[in-house]
Amino acid sequence: DTCKYTGIVEDCCCDYESIDDVNGAVLHILLQELVATPFFRYFKVKLWCDCPFWPDDGMCRLRDCSVCECPDHEFPESFKKPSLHILPKDDPVCQEGKPEATVDRTLDAKSFRGWVEIDNPWTHDDETDNGEMTYVNLQLNPERHTGYTGPSARRIWDAIYSENCPRYAFGEVCPEKKVLYKLISGMHSSISVHIAADYLLDETANQWGPNLELMHDRVVKHPDRVQNLYFTFLFILRAVTKAATYLDQAEYDSGNHAEDLKAQSLIRKLVHNPKLQAACALPFDEAEIALMDCVGCEKCRLWGKLQVLGLGTALKILFSVNDRGNPDPHLQLQRNEVIALINLLNRLSESLIYVNKMGSSVPSAKEMS
Ligand code: FAD
Repeated sequence: DTCKYTGIVEDCCCDYESIDDVNGAVLHILLQELVATPFFRYFKVKLWCDCPFWPDDGMCRLRDCSVCECPDHEFPESFKKPSLHILPKDDPVCQEGKPEATVDRTLDAKSFRGWVEIDNPWTHDDETDNGEMTYVNLQLNPERHTGYTGPSARRIWDAIYSENCPRYAFGEVCPEKKVLYKLISGMHSSISVHIAADYLLDETANQWGPNLELMHDRVVKHPDRVQNLYFTFLFILRAVTKAATYLDQAEYDSGNHAEDLKAQSLIRKLVHNPKLQAACALPFDEAEIALMDCVGCEKCRLWGKLQVLGLGTALKILFSVNDRGNPDPHLQLQRNEVIALINLLNRLSESLIYVNKMGSSVPSAKEMS
């Protein structure tokens, strides 16, 4: 049950050892710093949606059921206007019934000082449903154990796996299926690793910590799941490096000049890192994003949506940037897509570190008790 894999990652051009070296020595540190900057830590998301597949699923309306009575527009209007930098005295604070499952909507007001939402060259969002969109500080909402489990969670995963490649008739070979499956499985492994790495060990004492047994059972003892985690990491890394020129030349404007310069410099170090090995560009089909609206745990939905958007963004880049890394003139990325891409890469990078650190030290049942 060791996590140390050798050789080339299947369908990729990098070997496990090199990936671990590059990730441990450079990428992980860079990404951790990058996702903490104001530009990359705020994700715009529609957290309340009807689930189109199982309208009877009460779990879908978790936001309605939650104790939190936050204002409709948690993202203060004044922060969107360049001239108004006055902050309200009392920031909205959510009182959640189940804090581990629900999203903390408390915005980091300090970072929003001077945020200029208009003029942002990244944003070509479909503004039609903006009223229902929420800005979430990802740093305040780490992906971790939430207690979301049972038939609801299970049927989402079942549907995600079984409904890929829906365009192909039964019995036909779907060339994208293998890659699509591996990407979803890699993302699934990463979610499981994060649940295990930050687990509610004792509810009464509110004690959090790593659950090595869970990590072992859900990921480490399944070599294919670990391999798919590496594959997905390389796929996203490939997309980021392939869009290097585009990402290098983009403006990272959150209104906080010093922090924005830092984000720009970190992006440069990331995309032009000499140690970085690019993975292979592979054919792929779109994931079914609407399924994420059925995830009946708000925080899981947040990270589910972000990671699927990150996968979609990687596809967009891999199919619209030419082999020399030059941006296609038609390539346009939304700010949220870039935020999702980089945060997904960070999730995967973290997962590799956790799997290597924790995966080989699985305690016996006796030690756990
Ligand atoms: P599950 O993880 O639900 O897996 C279901 C089945 O899928 C397994 O029995 C196995 O057959 C197969 N499988 C498992 N892993 C893989 C893999 N890597 N590759 C291929 N097949 C696999 N819970 C949290 O606590 N925190 C979260 O942030 C969170 N986010 C979620 C996001 C989404 C989008 C979804 C759908 C669920 C999320 N959950 C989260 C729930 C969590 O993923 C599990 O569903 C839950 O913990 C129950 O786990 P389980 O043991 O039944 O197996």
